[in-house]
Amino acid sequence: MYDVYEIRKDFPLLAQKFNHKPFAYLDTSASAQKPQIVLDALVKTYTQNYANPHRGAYYLADMMTEEYEKARETVRQFINAKSAEEIVFTRNATESINLVASVWGTQNLHTGDEVLISQAEHHANLVPWQQICQKTGAKFVIFKVTDTGDFDMADFADKLSSRTKIVAISAMSNVLGTLFPVNEIIRIAHKQGAKVLVDACQFAVHHQIDVQNADCDFLAFSAHKTYGPTGIGVLYGKAEILRSMPPYQYGGDMVDTVTFEQTTFADIPARFEAGTPAGVQAIGMAQGLKYMQKLGLDNIVAHEQNLVEYTFARFKELQGLKVIGTSAHKGGVFCFDFKGIHPQDLSFVLNKENVFIRTGHHCAQPIVNRMGYTSLARASFGLYTTKEDIDMLIDALKKAEKFFA
Ligand SMILES: *Cc1c(COP(=O)(O)O)cnc(C)c1O
Repeated sequence: MYDVYEIRKDFPLLAQKFNHKPFAYLDTSASAQKPQIVLDALVKTYTQNYANPHRGAYYLADMMTEEYEKARETVRQFINAKSAEEIVFTRNATESINLVASVWGTQNLHTGDEVLISQAEHHANLVPWQQICQKTGAKFVIFKVTDTGDFDMADFADKLSSRTKIVAISAMSNVLGTLFPVNEIIRIAHKQGAKVLVDACQFAVHHQIDVQNADCDFLAFSAHKTYGPTGIGVLYGKAEILRSMPPYQYGGDMVDTVTFEQTTFADIPARFEAGTPAGVQAIGMAQGLKYMQKLGLDNIVAHEQNLVEYTFARFKELQGLKVIGTSAHKGGVFCFDFKGIHPQDLSFVLNKENVFIRTGHHCAQPIVNRMGYTSLARASFGLYTTKEDIDMLIDALKKAEKFFA
């Protein structure tokens, strides 16, 4: 039994009141709130076993190294990677994608090659590819998204060719909420000999990932969206591909031997982790993932899908409210337009009602434009979101409607 009210007790921030009133946090797509177990892991590490991992050979350093590597193992298990050496810790998903675009891209992209992405990509999975294409002379190709916010699979098939070297796609849109058919995309792309990078930032917040079953070549996500701390993200890459890639940055711990003349580099994953890692954050991240697993990813999805249906039903009460992204495969991300009221104005009224939503272009200007807007309001759900949060949103929207009438 998934008792969301019991679960909310694990999130100290959610118990706060502003202006003596409870609030609705509807911006989990931007960043998730943290359960106590994650906060405890951070404090415990800093107060009991803090040292620099992979450096010293004394009790504290050994303990820290062990916890850091245990965190890597937790991530491995969370996404079902074959081995922990395929898990590279980065600063966030943005850095993970930049690493692949920069290192793999420089090594593998040439004039005449193509990089294929969808219209729905976050800037983090768009700009690095656009830039590496400009640098290498490869062609940057975009396939379409339909009016409902689904991948246009015919256009994908049309744009994919033997020239396509890599396909970079999101598994779930942070604007449309669409759950994209990535497994099918991967299968088709591989037939053409293209590699596939999956941006799992939104997908990982709700759904079970299995990189071996999906057979993706790279996958990226950030801890702060999966109920973990900021400052750490993950790059998964198949071992043989990672091993074939040169380093991204240079410095401590990513080397084998160093002389003034030359340097030999460490094996994966250390090769891609130059400098002191975010060890404490890795430990916190692992606790966030374990927390999700303890609740059960299937239960989390079921809870959120109920909220999706509830939201669609309640939105019907608001004439002139248009949801952007109406795929049959939609998760708890609702971008909407309400009678043309500027999202910023909407957010102003909602904020007064303690309803916290995101407004703007959501770091994905091209898809917001593609759907016919320059700015949108967005309400997004997490494992702690309740029907009461959505009721608060509806009530606040009714107030905004009167306010701007
Ligand atoms: C949040 C997000 C990113 C970027 O994540 P960072 O943590 O900012 O690096 C990339 N893609 C999608 C779909 C996102 O939602």
